[in-house]
Amino acid sequence: MVLGAGFAGVAFMDALWEALGPQPRIDLRLIDRNNFKLFTPLLYQVATGLVSPDNISYPVRRRTRRRGARFQESLVQGIDLEARRVLTDDGPVPYDTLVVALGSVTNFFGMQDVARHALTLKTLGDGITVRNRLIDAFEEADVTTDPERRRALLTFNIVGAGATGVELATAIDNLINLVLLRDYPGINAEEVRIRLIEALDRAVPEMSEGVCRFTAKRLAERHIELRLGDPVVGLEGDRLRTRSGNLLPPGTTIWTAGVRANPVARGLPVEHGQGGRVVVTDTLQLPGHPEVFCVGDNALITDPATGRPVPPNAPAAIQMAQATARNVARRLRGEPLQPFRYHFKGELLSLGRNHAVLHLGGLLLDGFPAWVVWRAFYLTELMGMENRVGVMADWAFAYLSRLRESGRLICEPALAEEEGVMPTLAGRMR
Ligand SMILES: Cc1cc2nc3c(=O)[nH]c(=O)nc-3n(C[C@H](O)[C@H](O)[C@H](O)COP(=O)(O)OP(=O)(O)OC[C@H]3O[C@@H](n4cnc5c(N)ncnc54)[C@H](O)[C@@H]3O)c2cc1C
Repeated sequence: MVLGAGFAGVAFMDALWEALGPQPRIDLRLIDRNNFKLFTPLLYQVATGLVSPDNISYPVRRRTRRRGARFQESLVQGIDLEARRVLTDDGPVPYDTLVVALGSVTNFFGMQDVARHALTLKTLGDGITVRNRLIDAFEEADVTTDPERRRALLTFNIVGAGATGVELATAIDNLINLVLLRDYPGINAEEVRIRLIEALDRAVPEMSEGVCRFTAKRLAERHIELRLGDPVVGLEGDRLRTRSGNLLPPGTTIWTAGVRANPVARGLPVEHGQGGRVVVTDTLQLPGHPEVFCVGDNALITDPATGRPVPPNAPAAIQMAQATARNVARRLRGEPLQPFRYHFKGELLSLGRNHAVLHLGGLLLDGFPAWVVWRAFYLTELMGMENRVGVMADWAFAYLSRLRESGRLICEPALAEEEGVMPTLAGRMR
């Protein structure tokens, strides 16, 4: 039984199928609250109208069918380790071997007021909400006569200058400069503020020094304000308060400042580390429960090569899942399990139109060549030919029209709010 059909869950299923052959005599079931796998690396492009939400979501049943597995759409509510049952909103499901791959959730570090105020970028719905919020802000700024309100509507505070925050900030900058300022001629570029707020003392702190240097340079070129070493600690009215006591100018707040383990994983009666991630053995099993494996963002294991925790990212999740599939196959054959080893593959970061930075071995590349590699890499990583062709078409159309003819920049906030379709759509700043 696999909980979570994200990067790790699907990679586990594929690798187990390879390890056991096409007709395994096992009953493999995948449970997820959604029947699609979300390709998160391109979520910021949904949020900025560059790609269609459909093109970054892959129907999981298509893959389970090919792998001889079953899919169940249910919300996992807990795991009873003693009774070997998963508790779901559709009732309990027993298991012999369990792989917990439920990923992570946004971490507001206990600040409930900030959580209520900010938009997040974690689910497909979040991506669509951010996109609509951006457009809605420009629509309202275009007609408001209150200068203070107009300033707030044209201010975007992105909390967390990690890879997600930086990619989002540079994409918002592109969207505004290439599309919105043309569509809203009454708004000037000088009125728009994009601000990145980072708790640590550099941008993309999870990446290498070279990537950080290129990123800081690019942000400065684009006049994206970078506030370092001053974490957000709360909210006063509609203004974010930082540790140094500063109150930031009000605006749309998008929170990309960290993740913690999924609540189901956090609820397991085992040892937890940073962000509530489950501390696992070197074979990614729960101590005392060899029948339970924990992989991806919700697992914590130290990389012996660096002495640091394996990072919560997609390549690490996939590697953990593949290692676990091979170990599950060994376990079925009665062979000893092999410890997990993480292999660092390199770093890639998009910095807006025609700009990216690539760090591979000793090579550090930025600008257009890195941007081409970035696009080619993520295109091949997408699941399914239909999604690849869809994203390629979205990119080609946006590139050739310099984004100007993007058809994805429509929002109907009043209608959506009225019908309760998307309650977060319109009301965040009002
Ligand atoms: C906006 C964004 C951009 C990112 N960009 C990159 C990037 O460029 N490169 C990179 O390497 N990493 C990136 N990441 C991180 C990457 O997405 C994660 O590290 C990766 O998804 C972890 O894989 P996972 O399988 O552990 O979790 P996920 O892929 O998140 O899968 C977890 C699955 O569990 C399901 N689930 C959760 N809770 C429940 C429940 N209670 N019941 C049922 N199902 C449940 C979810 O629906 C989901 O399908 C990004 C993350 C975000 C949010």
